[in-house]
Amino acid sequence: MIRSCLHTHTTFCDGADDVETMCAAAAARGLAAIGFSSHAPIAKKTGIKTSWHLPDEKLDEYLETVLAAKKRWRGRLEVFLGLEVDYIQGLCGPADGDYQSLPLDYIIGSVHFAAPPERGFTVDAPEEEFLAGFRDIFQGDGTALYNAYYDAYRGMIEEGGFDIAGHLDLVKKNNGLYRFFSPEDPAYGKRLLETADCLAAASGRPARETTGNGAFPVVVEVNTGGMNRGRVSEPYPSRAVLKLLRERNVPLTVTADAHSAEHLGGHYEEARNAMMDAGYSSALRLAEGKDGKALWLEEPLTARDRGES
Ligand SMILES: [Zn+2]
Ligand SMILES: [Zn+2]
Repeated sequence: MIRSCLHTHTTFCDGADDVETMCAAAAARGLAAIGFSSHAPIAKKTGIKTSWHLPDEKLDEYLETVLAAKKRWRGRLEVFLGLEVDYIQGLCGPADGDYQSLPLDYIIGSVHFAAPPERGFTVDAPEEEFLAGFRDIFQGDGTALYNAYYDAYRGMIEEGGFDIAGHLDLVKKNNGLYRFFSPEDPAYGKRLLETADCLAAASGRPARETTGNGAFPVVVEVNTGGMNRGRVSEPYPSRAVLKLLRERNVPLTVTADAHSAEHLGGHYEEARNAMMDAGYSSALRLAEGKDGKALWLEEPLTARDRGES
């Protein structure tokens, strides 16, 4: 059974519920571990102000609040402190010293901006906003869009500094009915293959030295956030990508990219089925080691799990 969610947002950034509410919901839903991954502050570094990143001045309060929850829930729920850090080519990324020096259990590396950020365009923007940017910046060319996205993703993997590779094929979020590009297109397949190869290389080396967790490999998340918000019908990444990752022995962890308590554990059966179809028999979750440091723990996915809620 999958019993953790390491991709969780709260009222500190763009989530609907606070840290305590999320912990209580995680425990009530039978999760053994929850990790908080607020959108890391980027304003100072990039000059960009958004409504969805943690403001710089709130960072300390965020760290203290999650660490307090970790203490309060000890023995009932394992609570981990993380951040989801944006990679913006040439501007900022998980490898930056500002993030590496924080006392975090883990970092999720994510690409949302596939164009210069002053254009304000993110691949997962709400439909109308997405369409406007897609027309203006990419002239409505789906190939240009996914190439920009996977170029950035590759840059992020090569620069490193993160433990979990976030929503790998997020670029499909606004591609319902394959209206802008086909995942069957061999050129698209080539980008996926290249990304999988890159991740496999990253997976073989420790992600961050600062965790104290010597062999902390890069793990790919199977993220049900798009399903939880009714935007896509399958997890990130798709089955085709999961197969490529399986062939390369890249480990996975399952997350709900929860923006509210009700998302916790959402669509985990579909995630599990997709992983098993790709040939996976286990997933990883974080657990507290004896010295209090976070360690990856392998949990089996069994056929019995199928159909379980
Ligand atoms: Zn994200
Ligand atoms: Zn997120």
